[in-house]
Amino acid sequence: MREIIAATGNAHKVREIQSILAPYQIRVLPAEAAGRMPEVLEDGLTFADNAVLKALAGARAWGRCVLADDSGLEVQALGGAPGVHSARYAGEGGNDGRNLAKLLQNLAGQTDRRARFVCVIALAGPQGLLGVAEGEVRGHIAEAPSGNGGFGYDPVFIPEGYRESFAALPEAVKNTLSHRSRALQAALAQGLFSALPD
Ligand code: IMP
Repeated sequence: MREIIAATGNAHKVREIQSILAPYQIRVLPAEAAGRMPEVLEDGLTFADNAVLKALAGARAWGRCVLADDSGLEVQALGGAPGVHSARYAGEGGNDGRNLAKLLQNLAGQTDRRARFVCVIALAGPQGLLGVAEGEVRGHIAEAPSGNGGFGYDPVFIPEGYRESFAALPEAVKNTLSHRSRALQAALAQGLFSALPD
């Protein structure tokens, strides 16, 4: 069983990454298993910049192999917002509920509701960066939230080919088609996890 530390304070992300990687004999440990999550100023202009910043900071602080996930929602009619600012869309100290309310408000009366979730996974070890991989899922923003699962913008994101939001779909379904799942599949296909010690 290979082991990797997830450099994130987001328990939902950790749980999804654990489920997606479990069939590949990769054990994902939460940041607390390695120590305190290092402070990282996520000031990159892209998801990839921020994922690399977090992976390298974790690997340096803990001397272990680390996986970082930087992700967010891009809405076509909003010029790609909230994008890399997805977690702080309603301002510092905001939360999922306020971010989601702001998004629906900014889309009020808008008929073009196309959106995509993007996720970039970066892997780093004590020697440095091992690689990055990206995934996306296209869909649209609902008029109102629905469902109790997931986190963040899940209650308003309807993936292409479905009628329910990510929050209303079973977690196992989200994990087969999400941006996070696709980024991790791309990382597996690139052989990024092969560098991990057994
Ligand atoms: P990060 O921690 O800086 O990568 O911020 C990610 C933010 O994007 C989260 O706080 C959510 O608002 C949003 N996000 C990313 N992935 C998802 C997802 O799978 N579902 C819902 N929201 C997501």
